[in-house]
Amino acid sequence: MHYFNLHTHHFTKDEEVLELVNQYPKQFDATLPCFSIGIHPWYIKEEDVAEELKIMEEKIQLPNCLAIGECGLDKRIDIPMELQVEVFEKQMALAKKYKMPVVLHCVAAFQELIQIKKRLKINVPMIIHGFSKNEQLAKQLLDNGFYISFGKYLIQNPELEEVFKSIPKDRFFLETDTIEKSIKSVYELAAKYKNITSEEVQNSIKQNFNIVFKNGRMD
Ligand SMILES: [Zn+2]
Repeated sequence: MHYFNLHTHHFTKDEEVLELVNQYPKQFDATLPCFSIGIHPWYIKEEDVAEELKIMEEKIQLPNCLAIGECGLDKRIDIPMELQVEVFEKQMALAKKYKMPVVLHCVAAFQELIQIKKRLKINVPMIIHGFSKNEQLAKQLLDNGFYISFGKYLIQNPELEEVFKSIPKDRFFLETDTIEKSIKSVYELAAKYKNITSEEVQNSIKQNFNIVFKNGRMD
């Protein structure tokens, strides 16, 4: 396995890529070789949450479930923050119980996220996916133990080059999320920005994968 895609909504069946495909509990696809499962803040329906958590608890015990998520907090949507926090904390309880890493969606709620991590003493790896903010926030997240994953905005936003350069090699992942680009092209851009070879990026991510996703294997 040469490449790892930390977060995607499209399974490409590329044999060179280990893809952590995002799943929603009520649309579960049992054929995916490797997945994460979670309640996305955009799609919280209060009346469905109990059932979704039950499905999640069942599915996260499958060997090909590598993470909880994406889940998190989003201040730019209409769903009340109180409800988002409640649903997120219930998912974090599952993450702690089953010692699962978490793939995080976070929009304009990073301080709240850091506080929750501290208050609940969450000690499983937490990865912020689709990072697009500044170096200062990245550093604060790293200092608080988070990993950071880059993809869409690394491609679309040239200002992220400096931010990405500042991330130590043992703390980042790469992803495609919903974009059409291949994970290989994201690796190539990452290598260019860090002024290293694509192979060195592969090695770093392999090591990070083996540390974070102990249930998974990447040789
Ligand atoms: Zn996504």
